[in-house]
Amino acid sequence: MKIDVSELKQKAGAVQHFSFTEPFPPLEGEEGPIDLKGPVSAEGEAYNSGSSVVVRGTARARVVLTCGRCAKVFEHPVQAALQVEFVPGRTDGGPIEDDEGQERAPYEGEEINLDDEVRQRLLLALPMKPLCSADCKGLCPTCGKDLNEGPCECKPQVDVRLAGLADFFKQPAVNNPDDRGGGNDGPAKKKDLPR
Ligand SMILES: [Zn+2]
Ligand SMILES: [Zn+2]
Repeated sequence: MKIDVSELKQKAGAVQHFSFTEPFPPLEGEEGPIDLKGPVSAEGEAYNSGSSVVVRGTARARVVLTCGRCAKVFEHPVQAALQVEFVPGRTDGGPIEDDEGQERAPYEGEEINLDDEVRQRLLLALPMKPLCSADCKGLCPTCGKDLNEGPCECKPQVDVRLAGLADFFKQPAVNNPDDRGGGNDGPAKKKDLPR
């Protein structure tokens, strides 16, 4: 995404509209590449402030994310504001920050390359914890079933610390149905327990 600023540079105060739709490589997320579905678009205006070119606009893309609850892969539209000031300078030096912390990017010659700005802004606009939908039910922690597709066979959740105790009381009834309500025969039950 390169804005030809050869004309814009001629006159302080001049404004030039830009609009791009281009394929992009995957975004480089902290936890690996994030694929894009379709091209990335960016549009807005470049303004000649006299000593710099101020770019403001909007970038849009569709990213492919993995749901943090159910692990489903889904597409998510992202929109990010572009706002950066390009100052003449060497483009191999990376971004420059001025005293107010306002980010500036260098540009050389007659072209402003928006790719880095678009990539960074899209990355920042991604959700911290991607969800396929706001009310995603996630996976059952016991059997792993996707609960969005319906309930699983698992019993209602029992506190992990009490789960062992619950099994202890259930077991004799399962192994020996006649044992029900048979009073205090604790020692006999213990024999049936797996060691
Ligand atoms: Zn989900
Ligand atoms: Zn389950």
